Amino acid sequence: MRMPYKASDINLSQLSSRQLRDRRRRLAARFPDLEEMVLGSLQSQHRSCGKEGCRCTRGELHGPYVYLAVRVGRRNRLVYVPAELADEVQRRVALSQRVQASLAQISAINLELLARGELD
Ligand SMILES: [Zn+2]
Repeated sequence: MRMPYKASDINLSQLSSRQLRDRRRRLAARFPDLEEMVLGSLQSQHRSCGKEGCRCTRGELHGPYVYLAVRVGRRNRLVYVPAELADEVQRRVALSQRVQASLAQISAINLELLARGELD
């Protein structure tokens, strides 16, 4: 049985079960501090404040302000990120994306092992 893999994955079916387990171990050993995870994506926006007579009412918007787009349940939310925290949040977002990619790879390896009847 062949499992579907993402194009970014190497062809796991070509690896021996031992190679798969080695790869899985290396992936699992590389996880950073999971307490730092921030799932979402950063974006910057210009905004109007709504105050009468403000320059933003003439199209000169305020900002840019940084926001983190996050999924809460089925909804997307924008969370304001203070400028002094933008770099740190960006670092954590990138870290979290790498963790998610590693989890997906570990899961793909386990699916391949499962297909071989060698899941352990
Ligand atoms: Zn304004």
